[in-house]
Amino acid sequence: MSYLPIQHVLKTVPVGTDVTIKGWVRTKRESKNAVFIALNDGSTINNIQAVAEAGQLSEETLKLVTTGACLAVTGSLVESQGAGQAVEVKIASIQVYGPADPDKYPLQPKRHSLEFLREIAHLRPRTNTFSAILRVRHALAFAIHKYFNDNGFFYLNTPIITASDAEGAGEMFRVTTLDATKPPLTEEGKVDYSQDFFGRETNLTVSGQLEGELGAMALGKIYTFGPTFRAENSNTTRHLAEFWMIEPEMAFFELEDNMNLAEDFVKTVIRYALQHCADDLAFLDNRLKEEEKTKKKEEQSELSLLEKLQFVISNEFVRLTYTDAIEILVNSKPAKKGQFQYEVSWGVDLQSEHERYLVEKHFKKPVILTNYPRAIKSFYMKQDEESSATPGPTVRAMDVLFPGIGEIIGGSQREDDFDKLVARMHEVGIEPETMWWYLDTRRFGSAPHAGFGLGFERLVLFVTGMSNIRDVIPFPRAPKTAEF
Ligand code: ATP
Ligand code: MG
Ligand code: MG
Ligand code: MG
Repeated sequence: MSYLPIQHVLKTVPVGTDVTIKGWVRTKRESKNAVFIALNDGSTINNIQAVAEAGQLSEETLKLVTTGACLAVTGSLVESQGAGQAVEVKIASIQVYGPADPDKYPLQPKRHSLEFLREIAHLRPRTNTFSAILRVRHALAFAIHKYFNDNGFFYLNTPIITASDAEGAGEMFRVTTLDATKPPLTEEGKVDYSQDFFGRETNLTVSGQLEGELGAMALGKIYTFGPTFRAENSNTTRHLAEFWMIEPEMAFFELEDNMNLAEDFVKTVIRYALQHCADDLAFLDNRLKEEEKTKKKEEQSELSLLEKLQFVISNEFVRLTYTDAIEILVNSKPAKKGQFQYEVSWGVDLQSEHERYLVEKHFKKPVILTNYPRAIKSFYMKQDEESSATPGPTVRAMDVLFPGIGEIIGGSQREDDFDKLVARMHEVGIEPETMWWYLDTRRFGSAPHAGFGLGFERLVLFVTGMSNIRDVIPFPRAPKTAEF
């Protein structure tokens, strides 16, 4: 008799079949006539109930069957007499693989706080909430690969150790083989990176985009999906030091095509999760409803999680320029009453409070903002024709803003004009020679192209309805959280 995942047993095995199931005990309940054991193996949010008659199991075995213990149970699948489940396993035999001392096992059959669970990140996947999140995360990752494969994109792996700082934001983790306490110095007294492993200063990637562009200028449509590192000492609920980013890059795409792709892409992967994670999303939906009940009436969200997901996939995203958005924000109630923490005017980089105002209060829909001021965006974005309609020069950038999150995607059409790109590099203090490889794509066979970056955890955050990004990645890396 082979071992079957509980997901499979519950959905497809006919009553009357002998089965062996393996998993971790969620609860044990003893009545006068029987012992009920709820087992879960991570394949589904649903437990399977295994039942033994009173006296059937030895006292010794029974003592080892506690929350967290790992068991193999063999028996026949029967219709359940009790409420709550259609079938159960009538136990013939039990093998205890690993007991879990109930006085020491940190997880108990009750709802633990997310803060507590963050402290035991090594065990939290054994809870309903985290196993559901991790399965949804998996489904979304799969849907992302599927989407790009179905649409003719090639998966390109870009380097993790790199010398480039795509964003120029200086949030890089250095990678060095030099002795940090006694590095070799140049004659000018600076660290001599020529003696380093790679012979120059290197860091962990903050974005695979620049290398992704090289791929697009050869393969047409590519995407990356890899770990990304930013040493931002931000204790926000939206930033991690290590996160996963999906970055499609397409030759022959302009800003409009880029927006169309971004919108279709997020809708398609969310739809996939709704179709393939129905049980997990129903559980998370319920969990959120319980949580909402503890909030004040005016802070409760109007839509449930499932309604919100449905809403996003069935409504067109609003598209408007940064300049028009500033106009709305400046005339908004919070701006007039001074309620924004950061003042807003043309030229400022929007904060998540502004982004969320546009999405949640003004439009009540996801928003794509375009044509941002050149001064606040990266050097590689395509410059708009200068016009008196905006207070300053703008670039063909786009940010996709989501309710509850703010920015979920950042992208742009790229500057494909060699001279303009070089001039812009000089303006922002990049030595063009250091990026000769990047400039080669404009020097030889340049083409219009565009792309964007989606923060994977921000998408998982949105789809699971969780509110802290540390709760949607198995092992969060944020300031002071890396215990293993
Ligand atoms: P933010 O304004 O939220 O700091 P950003 O503009 O710095 O984001 P980009 O450089 O545009 O981010 O990166 C593309 C996407 O990567 C963002 O839209 C976001 O979804 C995600 N992202 C950026 N920084 C982080 C981070 N520290 N942790 C998790 N996701 C991130
Ligand atoms: Mg940032
Ligand atoms: Mg931003
Ligand atoms: Mg951005």
